[in-house]
Amino acid sequence: MDFSLSPDDHALSATKVHWLVRSNYLIRATSFAALFVAIGMHMLEQGYGAVAWGLLALQFLAYPHLVFRHARSVRDSLRTELFFLTLDALLVGIWAAALGFPTWIAFTMFIGCALNNATIQGWRGMLTAFLAYFGGALLWVIGAGFRHAPDTGFSSVALCMVGLTIYVLGVGNVTFIRNHKLRDTRKTLRQREQTLLKANLELEARLSNIQRLQAELQDQAIRDPLTGLYNRRYFNETLERELARAQRDTSSLCLMMIDLDHFKQVNDTHGHPAGDEILRLFGAMLRANARAGDIPCRYGGEEFLLLMPKIPLESARQRAEQLRAEFAARVAQVGEYSIQATLSIGIAAYPEHGDTPDVLTQAADLALYLAKQEGRNRVAVFAAS
Ligand code: GH3
Ligand code: MG
Ligand code: MG
Repeated sequence: MDFSLSPDDHALSATKVHWLVRSNYLIRATSFAALFVAIGMHMLEQGYGAVAWGLLALQFLAYPHLVFRHARSVRDSLRTELFFLTLDALLVGIWAAALGFPTWIAFTMFIGCALNNATIQGWRGMLTAFLAYFGGALLWVIGAGFRHAPDTGFSSVALCMVGLTIYVLGVGNVTFIRNHKLRDTRKTLRQREQTLLKANLELEARLSNIQRLQAELQDQAIRDPLTGLYNRRYFNETLERELARAQRDTSSLCLMMIDLDHFKQVNDTHGHPAGDEILRLFGAMLRANARAGDIPCRYGGEEFLLLMPKIPLESARQRAEQLRAEFAARVAQVGEYSIQATLSIGIAAYPEHGDTPDVLTQAADLALYLAKQEGRNRVAVFAAS
């Protein structure tokens, strides 16, 4: 398991005292107090003077609290704590050399520092502790000379053992707590991930709903509400586009303009709602007669258009005739009324009758006028004369 510190740890410790600093404070305070007793016992046996005792108290009783107070007051408490971990090793190294390397005490101090550094920084921590400890010892040896007095009394040894045991168990406990925290954090992360996933799905659903509504709105903008056919605006745009395409592809294009005959009478006789029903009915018939690529529109009132790209004039005429006959033969049952109506159709074709939207529409309109003139219920093709 990797306990090395991440940038997040440092960022966290910049805002409040890092939990690692707190737990280290506890470890340092208790283990140094234990060392105070163990070294004190040794010093008592060796008969050290008041200055040494003062320094011992300063180092092992006051120092842990002073460094914690300092770490708590700085911005990045964790960085400061890492520095103090190295300082711990350096200082106990000095103590080890100053005391003449009493085996048990020197070993206890070394292994304690190395272990604490290792749990926090891994191999790097161990190496740092090692170098700091022997660096401290070297400093003392250079300044005050080397002295080797390895023997320690039984009570010091026993205290070292007890202290070391407490320390190792303490580190073990901290490791356990850390593992626990890690597990909790993982659990929380998994839960948050689930929540995010759910929120994401909801958002996606909402988005597709919005897209659907948008498509519906767009569709509504180009359709006639009564018949569901395309409206005049859409026809105008499309005729321009289809004409340009026909010119590009040098293909033909036919336009049917359809007007229901004497429709005013239908309204007058059977009422406006019945008239609406006939319009709807014809709309459905026109749509059913349209082929792929055809554009059926309601031009306004009882006038309709069928734009038929890539079709020769004669085929358009035949289809118009078919549509006329089908409508004329149809008896619509609207409520109590049986209504039979007819329609007239004018046809104009590109390129024969015009090559702009306006000219072509006018030509179809003129052809329709001709069909009406000739008695209605018929199909007329535009003729220049
Ligand atoms: P013609 O054969 O010459 O075309 O005669 P017409 O009666 O069909 O033509 P006219 O232009 O005189 O009348 C068209 C009628 O269509 C008048 C109007 O009330 C009716 N109309 C237009 N739009 C609607 C509609 O949305 N619903 C209904 N029910 N009638 C409509
Ligand atoms: Mg009309
Ligand atoms: Mg009419």
